Amino acid sequence: MGALQAEVERRGERIFELVDDHPEPLFSKAGFYQRMMALSMRDEHFKVQLFRFVDVLASLHRGTDIVQHLDEYFATMRNGYGSLIRTGVRAARVVPFLSGQLLRWNVSGMARQFIAGRNPQDVMKTLRKRRAQGIGFTVDLLGEAVVSETEANEYAMRCLELLEHLGRECRGWSDPLGQDSDLFPVVNLSVKISALYSQMNPADPADAITHLAPKLRPILRRARELGAFVNFDMESYAHKNSTLDLFKTLFTEREFRDWPHIGIVIQAYLRDAEDDLRDLLEWGRERGTRFAVRLVKGAYWDFEKIKSRQNGWACPVFLQKPESDLNFEILTRILLENESIVTAAFGSHNVRSIAHAQALADQLGIDRGRFEFQLLYGMAGPVKRALVEMGYRVREYSPVGELLPGMAYLVRRLLENTSNEGFLRAKFSENVSEAELLRDPAQIVTESSNGARQLEIRGNGQSLDTPAGDTYENAPLVNFVYRANQDRMRAALAQVKTQLGQKYPLVINGDRVWTENTIASINPSHPEEVVGHVAEAGIPEAERAVKAARQAFEKWSRTPFETRCRLLERAADIMHRRRYELAALEVYEVGKAWAEADGDIREAIDFCLFYAQQMRLIGRPRLTQHVLGEESYQHYWGRGVAMVIAPWNFPLAILTGMTTAALVTGNAVIMKPAEQSAVVGAKLMEIFEEAGVPRGVLNYLPGKGSVMGAHLVDHKDVDLIAFTGSREVGLRIWESAGKTREGQRELKRVICEMGGKNAVIIDADADLDEAIVDTVYSAFGYQGQKCSACSRLIILEEIYPRAVERLMNAAASLRVGNPEEPGITVGPVIDGKAHKNILGYIESGKQEARLAFQRGDVPENGFFIPPTIFTNVDPSAKIACEEIFGPVLSVIKARDLDEAFEIANGTEFALTAGFFSRSPANIERAKAEIVAGNVYINRSCTGAVVGRHPFGGFKMSGGGTKAGGADYLLQFVVPRVVTENITRHGFAPETTPQYRDEFLPPR
Ligand SMILES: Cc1cc2nc3c(=O)[nH]c(=O)nc-3n(C[C@H](O)[C@H](O)[C@H](O)COP(=O)(O)OP(=O)(O)OC[C@H]3O[C@@H](n4cnc5c(N)ncnc54)[C@H](O)[C@@H]3O)c2cc1C
Repeated sequence: MGALQAEVERRGERIFELVDDHPEPLFSKAGFYQRMMALSMRDEHFKVQLFRFVDVLASLHRGTDIVQHLDEYFATMRNGYGSLIRTGVRAARVVPFLSGQLLRWNVSGMARQFIAGRNPQDVMKTLRKRRAQGIGFTVDLLGEAVVSETEANEYAMRCLELLEHLGRECRGWSDPLGQDSDLFPVVNLSVKISALYSQMNPADPADAITHLAPKLRPILRRARELGAFVNFDMESYAHKNSTLDLFKTLFTEREFRDWPHIGIVIQAYLRDAEDDLRDLLEWGRERGTRFAVRLVKGAYWDFEKIKSRQNGWACPVFLQKPESDLNFEILTRILLENESIVTAAFGSHNVRSIAHAQALADQLGIDRGRFEFQLLYGMAGPVKRALVEMGYRVREYSPVGELLPGMAYLVRRLLENTSNEGFLRAKFSENVSEAELLRDPAQIVTESSNGARQLEIRGNGQSLDTPAGDTYENAPLVNFVYRANQDRMRAALAQVKTQLGQKYPLVINGDRVWTENTIASINPSHPEEVVGHVAEAGIPEAERAVKAARQAFEKWSRTPFETRCRLLERAADIMHRRRYELAALEVYEVGKAWAEADGDIREAIDFCLFYAQQMRLIGRPRLTQHVLGEESYQHYWGRGVAMVIAPWNFPLAILTGMTTAALVTGNAVIMKPAEQSAVVGAKLMEIFEEAGVPRGVLNYLPGKGSVMGAHLVDHKDVDLIAFTGSREVGLRIWESAGKTREGQRELKRVICEMGGKNAVIIDADADLDEAIVDTVYSAFGYQGQKCSACSRLIILEEIYPRAVERLMNAAASLRVGNPEEPGITVGPVIDGKAHKNILGYIESGKQEARLAFQRGDVPENGFFIPPTIFTNVDPSAKIACEEIFGPVLSVIKARDLDEAFEIANGTEFALTAGFFSRSPANIERAKAEIVAGNVYINRSCTGAVVGRHPFGGFKMSGGGTKAGGADYLLQFVVPRVVTENITRHGFAPETTPQYRDEFLPPR
């Protein structure tokens, strides 16, 4: 054992000794809280229900609602306490008012365990008590997640008030250690950066700084005048780079450059924490003034893991707990070795991590007065006491705030206390041995990397129970949190700009065809800018294309499906390679914001890969049933010539989705992109040509829908029409395809995806922080031009005023502008016609409802429509019934849930819907009763992911097929079954193969 490890153990044992002198259970407050936590650690299901119940409780005001929720969360509990809880619920129902209040009181008690005071006055009691114990403080203001600039400005004001109050109340307080007090001012404020700006976007750190710096300067200035210390807390990974940039920018400014009483958090669970710390140190040396770093492991581990898994990103956090512990020690060393420029604060309750910092500081000869330990209020009391006794500086992180805003914080602390891998649980609840607790994490990591432990579990094996989407791993989204990705996007925008205005021919039978007429595709942000001139197909070109496709079909349909699958996979590879270029083109051609454009490219890649995979699953003739003496095989042939008619709003994804489904199933395709996004269509053609699509199998034919499109829909040699677009055109196609023309071989199949008038319902107990953010995104993301967008918001009467107020403030804070800039949420609508149409709807809305909100500051040039909200909308009003396809939201008040569902379902459409609630019973009702093809609970109603959320509606929203789902390809094929009697004179083979490939291609 090395000397350092020996010293760590000695220190650790000493801390444990002191801790054991004052035995205290993990949960120092006895009673209700302790029992709940003990149960949670035994029963994972109970833990989930408890946390969810705690989460909703603060928003419930009536005793009956509290008892109702209690019942819904716990009555079906199957652990040993089930019957006890049921009895409790029955009793509670008798006097709901009393029992409701009792529960609130108990849970408030849990919250008070972690929240040091409700307001600045209240917290002083705690701070004084700690002062007497030789413990300092840093105060943190809890806040609701800010959804608007109004809320962010309020938070900034409250920070200033808190600072003033502390400055006043703590005047004359001396440093607990009485040495090096110049490094550690008494008043210490921790600030949550995201609470100061509601529109932080990882793609745009510069914008964050522009908005945050003016709000922070007065706080910093006042703190400096008061001789206080200000620390920037660190939140989720998405905000990390912006927070670091902000810190460095502000404290390099002349006014603050020589101010040493500033600090920032480094999270050791992040893989890139060391790089960030080294970069900070370099900055600090250049700046020439001391600063502080609070080293922690990090509070968002589960969140980061889930988020990165959902988006296909590299996980930013370590996946094994000892890796975080080890990194904490590595960073401890870096901090202490650079003590000349940085003051270290070690934020941990883990005795091993603490003992290591102590031992290392001694080894490096650093006086114990020159760094400090920080621990959270309400946690690890005995450890704090032990550290004070050992003569170390201890500061307590003391949250201040009301119960409701504090819930997110409370739930995080509860999770931390009951986490399987946490130190506190191991020590104080499970009595793990001291030797085990003090083991060197480096040694544990080495053991586990030798195969002792494997924490990552992936669900990609296939069995009968495997969900269809589970066999498929989605393409990742681009993570714009990385500067390199931001730079790539900027470079792509610059590069694509140089190519604007080029000419694109039709492609028929592999030939480039130029026509007299061209379509000018324009940039909706700058209508004078032409993105490209695309040849316009007329009837003669349409005839040529059908002929070519018909001919090509004969061979293509006989091509092994594996060859067709590979074509799609090669196309996906090319899209991947040209990803930024394609996204940049979408920014110019259809006005998509960065992340929206990237999402569209990701979806296109997904369609290629997912349909290739699905084709492999259905491609081979498959035995229908084992039966002696006979064998029957079902398999599929392509239908013939497919006409693909796509919209502009997902210019690559939808075009690719319909095209690849048709191609991979053996059809020849005539691809007609929307006129407004014809250049993206041309790029898709280029991609397939590069991927090696045979001549005539895919033909690129932009043109007027009403002329060339209609001609092809009616054409006797077109067998299938895959359409996504407006209801008006969809119904016309549906009807027209129903007529059989002379010489027609097939009954035409129409795959028809149309619009929606999608409703989101906000229940009385919904988490408004989430509901507002997600609804604003669903309604105004991509300017409301997604068929899945929310255009009717139904709010329960009880929370209507508060929800509407927060909604309007949130809409007022959105970033509206040219989406070439990163971080824009609302750009222009697609063209002049749409612009006029939407403004027309806004005018009729003014006659029918109350214009509650309209942005006044949209750019003048370009087709910008101000985000608009109408309230008190009658469900039968025109704006509540017709699809507007723009950033216009109708808000409808509902008496109760019955009425809310009735309104939501009372339209001709059934595409998407959303429901926000924390009542398990109401959530079940929504799942069963909302009439929509895609029902989303407690999340935005847009953003379907291939394979995960097969997408499509019914009623007047579409033909009921699900794009990106397991059964989508079946729309593009004709099924065949071939049955052979294999008995000869009473003799038959015993077994038949599951698959036969002999008669696969039609001959
Ligand atoms: C005063 C103070 C201020 C803080 N400020 C912040 C802040 O601004 N931002 C912030 O994010 N955190 C902050 N934290 C940290 C956080 O809230 C937790 O308290 C801390 O991570 C717990 O670590 P520990 O060393 O006390 O306990 P331990 O039990 O040793 O470590 C638990 C931690 O290990 C990590 N972990 C758990 N499971 C795994 C796994 N499977 N693989 C890898 N790592 C894992 C997680 O970070 C978890 O929180 C702060 C903590 C303190 C004490």
